[in-house]
Amino acid sequence: MTDSLFKFMLGEGNVRGVAVRLGDAWQEMLRRRRHGAPVQELLGEMSAASALLAGSLKFDGTLILQIHGDGPLRLAVAECQPDFGLRATAKELDAPEPDEAPAGGALLGLANRHGSGRCVITLDPRQPGQQPYQGIVGLADAEGRALQDLSAVLRQYLDQSEQIPSWLMLAADERVACGLLVQRMPGAGGKAGSDAARADEDFSRAVHLASTLQRAELLQLEPQEVLRRLFWEEGARVFDPVRPRFHCTCSKQRVAQMLRMLGREEVESVLAERGEVEVTCEFCGAGYAFDLVDAAQLFHAGVDQPPGPSQSQ
Ligand SMILES: [Zn+2]
Repeated sequence: MTDSLFKFMLGEGNVRGVAVRLGDAWQEMLRRRRHGAPVQELLGEMSAASALLAGSLKFDGTLILQIHGDGPLRLAVAECQPDFGLRATAKELDAPEPDEAPAGGALLGLANRHGSGRCVITLDPRQPGQQPYQGIVGLADAEGRALQDLSAVLRQYLDQSEQIPSWLMLAADERVACGLLVQRMPGAGGKAGSDAARADEDFSRAVHLASTLQRAELLQLEPQEVLRRLFWEEGARVFDPVRPRFHCTCSKQRVAQMLRMLGREEVESVLAERGEVEVTCEFCGAGYAFDLVDAAQLFHAGVDQPPGPSQSQ
């Protein structure tokens, strides 16, 4: 099973897009953390989406896609590194609320039961010293109607925050996590006039064609085949693929940094109680243990060391 991400352009270059299919990378994420089927499916869609967004935005750094939920799902995170290294995790309530899930998509039932769920997209630059950029959208449309799925949420984000008219579709199952993104090329044809009208037209046609794609096809077919079937009349130019893969950025150093932020008192109280501090990475399940000696070094070394990367673990 292969992992691939293809960027493409249609016709005269008024429309661009990204298609992604995660096989092994997705299997690796599943192997490390199991969740219930609806959460798993959402995490798969989020992983595919983080790769699609990273593939479409011109940006050198980590893209972090989060859903903060107000239902049984508290937090779901998918991260994509500049080299398309991916990781994802989710936190669920231990004892889910007994109330009935609202009718509608899984997203509503999991993360937006009371209408206060939100989606946060963070672009964390690789260059040290640069500030991260964060965009936040609710899980409802402008009229306050709850959005049914992640595709609708992200479409709204891209329209509003990035101001790029976009269409996207996401799907995930036990085997693969896939996505297709189609966008009007930013700035294509200028703001007005016949060129702009033409760019709008090209984009609507591409969306019309893309909308014929079935979820089952997206899950079943390789990205090139999806693009060939949908856009064979549009003169699609497909660029060389990149290979997304599973990659967790955790390390003992990063965990040490987190413990330093937690503070000496807290760490020493855990040490007194258990003899060591154990931290398990939420993303990949790797365990990091700090005994008395490690902990002593932690706070001695901490005085002279510059702060580590701002990322979590
Ligand atoms: Zn990890």
